[in-house]
Amino acid sequence: MQKNILVTGANKGIGLEIVRQLAILGHQVVLTARNKVRGVAAQETLAKEGLSVHFIQMDVNDEAQIRAAAEQVNKQFGQLHVLINNAAISLAADASILLADSKVLQQTMQTNAFSMLTTVAAFSSILPSGGRIINLSSGLASMTDSISGWSPFYSCSKTLVNAFTRHQAFALAPKDIAVVSMCPGWVRTDMGGSAAPRNVSEGADTAVWLATAEQIETGKFYRDRKVIAW
Ligand code: NAP
Repeated sequence: MQKNILVTGANKGIGLEIVRQLAILGHQVVLTARNKVRGVAAQETLAKEGLSVHFIQMDVNDEAQIRAAAEQVNKQFGQLHVLINNAAISLAADASILLADSKVLQQTMQTNAFSMLTTVAAFSSILPSGGRIINLSSGLASMTDSISGWSPFYSCSKTLVNAFTRHQAFALAPKDIAVVSMCPGWVRTDMGGSAAPRNVSEGADTAVWLATAEQIETGKFYRDRKVIAW
């Protein structure tokens, strides 16, 4: 079945690769980006590869843009089968939990976690029974693995993403909408850096699988197509 799928923060990195792989599979994909020029450039890159995707400008920190995007998707496609919350930031100043820089904390939590609540609130009404929400998290969110010390606010923002995932899964279960978190692994992107062992294709794989697999278990945390511990 061809699905309508929207990906946030998809002008580069893992998000762009998720869009690419889903378009190759024949799905109707909406690439969203906060910056119109960068978003259209990404759309054109895919067009040169023979892939046709839609573009909507959407800054995940702009509630009005999120609501407008949901309305546009509703008008154009009637429904959205899969929402992939991929957009995130990792700020260089996020170096130590002891610095407690409230501006860095606020920006990180807003973009990586709070915005996801607004996005799900805006799109959940156009997700049909059988719909899915995939939240990009990280192994750094873990409450069981040891602490790496790397980007503590970013890590905590992803722990919050995981907590939101479980509550969203509970709230949307009566509508038969699955909500999951996933870790792409450490991936070579602007965020992951050049030392990361995975390429974007490997990083996008589990999100694409979660979007398209026949059945997935809601309210779970995934990596490499398998459920992992929170
Ligand atoms: P990336 O290359 O830095 O790309 C991040 C994307 O998010 C960019 O398109 C960026 O747009 C967008 N974005 C940032 N703020 C936004 C906003 N307010 N509104 C809309 N879009 C916004 O990062 P990535 O490595 O592909 O990461 C993708 C996801 O995987 C993130 O959720 C990240 O936390 C997660 N992840 C990555 C790794 C890794 O090793 N790379 C590991 C674990 C988890 P601009 O170009 O406009 O900045």
